[in-house]
Amino acid sequence: MIPITDNHIHLDRRGKGILAVKEFARAGGTHIILVSKPSWTLGIHATKPDDYKPVFEETIGIADEINRSDIGVMAFPVLGVHPAEITILTDRMGQVRAEELMMGGLEIAQRFVYEKKAIAIKTGRPHYDVSESVWDASNRIMGYGMALACDADCAVQLHTETVDAAAIADLADIARKSGLPPEKVVKHHAPPLVHVFERAGIFPGVHAGKGAIETALAEGSRFMMETDYIDDPERPGAVLGPKTVPRRTKQLIDRFGEEMFWKVHKEIPEQVYGIEIVL
Ligand SMILES: [Zn+2]
Repeated sequence: MIPITDNHIHLDRRGKGILAVKEFARAGGTHIILVSKPSWTLGIHATKPDDYKPVFEETIGIADEINRSDIGVMAFPVLGVHPAEITILTDRMGQVRAEELMMGGLEIAQRFVYEKKAIAIKTGRPHYDVSESVWDASNRIMGYGMALACDADCAVQLHTETVDAAAIADLADIARKSGLPPEKVVKHHAPPLVHVFERAGIFPGVHAGKGAIETALAEGSRFMMETDYIDDPERPGAVLGPKTVPRRTKQLIDRFGEEMFWKVHKEIPEQVYGIEIVL
């Protein structure tokens, strides 16, 4: 048996919730990196940093429930402020206050890392076109999130625009300027550019959609696999399901062998996040 880790998954008590973890386990999955949901999906409209606390406590609570159950899956929480919140918050309170609030939210996430209730901070910048001033603010917020991760000696997961080699180098640059080694940066929803990411130092979480993992494996095994399962009760089939990473892994082991997947599912997540992946 081999550990099988999904690098980016969300769970929602109004969606499948723990049932999705059982599906993951039945398909052969063993570990999940459980990422907090955007505040608005929980009906929370943040006006002060402390408003992010219940958002993060929800993620931590779901992870605890999984870890105490007999499902056979370990969940590791990653907490942060979704980069798209800048648009919603700017409409509500103006950009200056929005930026302050998002940075304050990231500080709350860092506190949970210090308390060992989370393993990493999620930050990034919008994946859609924004004004130059919102883009600059987003880069400052992301840099701040990286600096917080540096202080807490943890990794960051980044949600960003679709990246090419230039954008990957830019993200590594912002990390270095924030004091965070690029080796502590995980690009979530990454294209299978294994060599490009290796040169930049960043680790890709390759989206396990059609063909991407094969492309990644052709370049090596320095990557992780993820679904970005969102567990949205309104859009149940909108994304890759929770069984995808274990299923794809098992299919691909036949072709590529098991050894590469020990790197993908155990060695790399252990190295980046400082966690232990044991069966
Ligand atoms: Zn996500």
